[in-house]
Amino acid sequence: MIEFQGVSKTFAGRTAVQALAEVDLSIRDGEFVALLGPSGCGKSTLLNLLAGFEPLSEGHLTFAGQEVRRPGPDRAVVFQEASLFPWLTVWDNVTFGPRVQRRSRAEYEERTREMLRLVGLEAFRDALPAQLSGGMRQRVGIARALVMNPRALLMDEPFGALDAQTRLAMQQLLLDVWQTLGIAVLFVTHDIDEAVLLADRICVMSARPGRITREIQVELPRPRS
Ligand code: ADP
Ligand code: ADP
Repeated sequence: MIEFQGVSKTFAGRTAVQALAEVDLSIRDGEFVALLGPSGCGKSTLLNLLAGFEPLSEGHLTFAGQEVRRPGPDRAVVFQEASLFPWLTVWDNVTFGPRVQRRSRAEYEERTREMLRLVGLEAFRDALPAQLSGGMRQRVGIARALVMNPRALLMDEPFGALDAQTRLAMQQLLLDVWQTLGIAVLFVTHDIDEAVLLADRICVMSARPGRITREIQVELPRPRS
């Protein structure tokens, strides 16, 4: 469903930086792929290209057969900080996207209830972000991403700012979400334990220039709840 073919990315500037060099990567529908590597190896750049936030320099990148040119609701992105609107309730934060897109109200309200249930925040629909813990805010961020009914979830170190215990809870929650919805996940991390715990496949990257140097199929049985 996702195809990177010979994708390179150079950031122009006084000294040009080649962030990615001839990356080939295929991700199937429903697959959970981790991008693992040290800081600066191009993980975020790869994710941002797929999100449509940045143009490629060379190569081809397609999503569901279409050349990626701009962001779209089929590819939802979750960052380290959920960046919720602080003046809006959980419910209004999650329904913001579908309202802007003028989606059918009955449909998005039903979907919002489902997603809040999935992330365990039904009881918090009227709370403001400041009343929630970091993990709970990140769960709102995941619900907000999923409410658009994306085909892929792109996550850039989503649990990097959380304490160890919350992080474990969020990893389990993400696995539950993924097993329930069966959507593709591209997950950026520099934490090998996290990559092994979560992913079907780990793409290991190295820097200067950024490349995928190894792909590892994970055979470990996943913890199930
Ligand atoms: P990672 O996510 O693995 O830490 P990045 O994708 O953020 O790596 O960065 C890869 C390389 O591209 C780094 O050398 C970084 O400094 C450079 N880079 C990233 N974004 C930009 C930008 N907007 N302008 C210039 N250089 C950038
Ligand atoms: P995090 O999502 O950051 O791991 P916790 O699950 O530790 O947050 O919850 C922080 C506080 O909020 C705890 O006191 C917990 O009891 C409460 N809490 C979290 N989720 C729920 C929930 N779904 N229902 C009721 N209370 C919750």
